[in-house]
Amino acid sequence: MKNSILEKDKQYIWHPYTQQKTAAEPLAIIKGQEALLFDENGNEYIDGISSWWTNTHGHSNPYIAKKIYEQALELEHVIFAGFTHKPAVTLGERLLGKIPYQKRVFFSDNGSTAVEIAIKMAIQYFHNKGIQRKTLVAFENAFHGETFGAMSASGDLSLNNAFKEHLFNIIRIPEPIGEDKEKSFAALEEVLQNNQVYAFIFEPLLQGAGGMRMYAPEDLDKLIAICRKHEVLCIADEVMTGFYRTGKFFASDYLKNKPDLMCLSKGLTGGTLPLAITTCTEEIFEAFLSDDKLKTFFHGHSYTANPIGCAAALASLDLFEQDSTQQNIEWLVSNHANFLKKIKGHPKLNDVRQQGTVLAFEFKTSQNTSYFNNLRDKLYYYFLDRGAILRPLGNVIYLMPPYCITKKQLLKLYNLIEQILTEDFI
Ligand SMILES: *Cc1c(COP(=O)(O)O)cnc(C)c1O
Repeated sequence: MKNSILEKDKQYIWHPYTQQKTAAEPLAIIKGQEALLFDENGNEYIDGISSWWTNTHGHSNPYIAKKIYEQALELEHVIFAGFTHKPAVTLGERLLGKIPYQKRVFFSDNGSTAVEIAIKMAIQYFHNKGIQRKTLVAFENAFHGETFGAMSASGDLSLNNAFKEHLFNIIRIPEPIGEDKEKSFAALEEVLQNNQVYAFIFEPLLQGAGGMRMYAPEDLDKLIAICRKHEVLCIADEVMTGFYRTGKFFASDYLKNKPDLMCLSKGLTGGTLPLAITTCTEEIFEAFLSDDKLKTFFHGHSYTANPIGCAAALASLDLFEQDSTQQNIEWLVSNHANFLKKIKGHPKLNDVRQQGTVLAFEFKTSQNTSYFNNLRDKLYYYFLDRGAILRPLGNVIYLMPPYCITKKQLLKLYNLIEQILTEDFI
C-alpha cells in the first residue's frame, strides 16, 4: 500500500517542469492542513511557497470545502454561453466592487488562459475599431504563462528554446529596477513612438518566476502614463500578485494609474480549484458591442465560470473579509520586515527584498550555470530534508506562505534561512 502511489506514479505520470530521466522521486502527499503538508511516510512539511503560489487560507480549509460541497450538490456545471448562474454573477459583482475601474469579468481556467484572453481582447479591441496595431510590449524578465501568447510575452527564457520560431512578435523593455530606471522609461517611449503597439503587459510591482524581482509603484505609474499618451492598453498580470501577496488586495491598488485589463487566477479560489478571470474597462467591453457579428469576442472554454470554482472563490473572499485574515496578513508583512532588517547585509547575500507577504533572498554566486543548477537542488533538498518546502528560482530563495502560517512555523522558516547561510556549500 505504502509505495503504491510512487510505483504507479513512475508508471503513468508525466510531471510538470520535471526532467523525468534524472528527477528524484516525487513526494506522495496524502494530507494538507493549514500551512502543512503530510507525506505517506508521516513526515510533515511547511508549505513555504503556497503550493506554486496558489494557497492563501491554508490547505483543506473546512469553510471553503463546505461551500464547494454545497455548490456541487446544487449545480456542478452548466454551459456559460446562453446560460448564467448565481455564483458567477455574485463573484463578478464582489470582485469588481474591489476594483471599480474594471467593469467586466471574463472567466477561464488558469493564469495562462487569463493572459491569453487579455492579449486577444487587446488585439481585437483595436481591430474592432479599425485601428492598425501589431505589437505587444513586455518586460525582459517577465513570466506570463505556458500557452503560446503567454509564452511569447514571457522573457527570453531558455526554457522556451524549442518554441522560439513559433512565438509571436514582442518588443521587450528593461524593468525600472536598479540604477538605470530611466532606461526603462526611455525604452518604452521609444518603442511606442516607432511601433504600432496594442498593449503593454506587466506583472505589477513583483515579477514572480523571473526571480522575485521588485519595482516601485511610482515607476510603474510612469510607464502606464507613457502608454496612456500613446493610447496603448495596459495589462496587469496579477495572476501571482493578486489576493494580498503584495500586502494589498491587488498590486494595482498601489498605483495611481490603473490598468485597462487585469488577469487573476492563482489565489482566486484560495488555492483550491482552477479558475481564472480577465477583467476589463467598460471602454474595452463596448468596442465589442456591434450589430456586426464579426466583432464578437469568439473565445470560451468548456468550463468557463464553473459554478463550483466560483463558489470556492466566493468562500475565499468571505475569509479575506474576516478581521482575523487581515490581521494574519499584517502580521506576516511586519514579521518579514523585521527579519529582513535582521539579515540584510549578510556577506553571503546579494540582496534581501520584500513586497508585502513575499520575502526574497538572493544568494551570492559567481559560478556558472551548471553549478547554479547544483546549488538550486542543494538548496531545495536542504530545506525539504528539514521539513520545509522552499523552491529556489536560480539563486533566489523566497518565502510566500499561506496567510494562516503559525508563528512557530514562520520562525522555523526564518531559522532555516539563517542556518543555511552558515553552511559551507553556500
Ligand atoms: C503562474 C503565472 C501565470 C500562469 O498561470 P498558470 O495558472 O500556471 O497557467 C501567469 N502569470 C503569472 C504572473 C504567473 O505567476
